[in-house]
Amino acid sequence: MGYTVPVGISNKHMHLSQADLETLFGKGHELTVFKELSQPGQYACEEKVDVIGPKGTHKGVRVLGPVRASTQIELSMTDARSIGINAPIRESGDVAGSPGAKLVGPAGETELKEGVIVALRHIHLTEDEAKDAGVKDKEFVSLKFDGPRATVYEQVLIRVNVNYAGECHLDTDEGNAAFVSTGAKGEIVK
Ligand SMILES: [Zn+2]
Repeated sequence: MGYTVPVGISNKHMHLSQADLETLFGKGHELTVFKELSQPGQYACEEKVDVIGPKGTHKGVRVLGPVRASTQIELSMTDARSIGINAPIRESGDVAGSPGAKLVGPAGETELKEGVIVALRHIHLTEDEAKDAGVKDKEFVSLKFDGPRATVYEQVLIRVNVNYAGECHLDTDEGNAAFVSTGAKGEIVK
């Protein structure tokens, strides 16, 4: 058995800039923690926003904190298509040239020019964990799952940072396709 990491399945969510947060929730608004996430310093918020595309709406998409430099909406391919958005697969933070969407909050709305992506699947590791796993930051590996839908996902990006906790992030499409849910273990294969 090789090095294994637990899986975290990401449902659709968004990260907001302070400016967009204030447009949607009111001047001076600050995010309210709903639940800490497994990556240190990251949290799910009480705040939810409607995401509107050309063909439909996802109501009440959860905001994750803290605020970021730019707003980013992370949808699965299924979620994006269902509201008529053809979103690219991107690493988090890389939103240049991606499609936008209309965001509606309790205090206002904004028409995003860009920011809707399907997150590139990735594995967060600390430096020690990366050493143990024999992988480096920005390397692509495969991740193998057992079970009735045994699957090997290729092109899984390694992201190494002292502040991370060892975890593979997949979206709901990827989790469903491999029949794995949060807490399942995947084996890193090179
Ligand atoms: Zn992640």
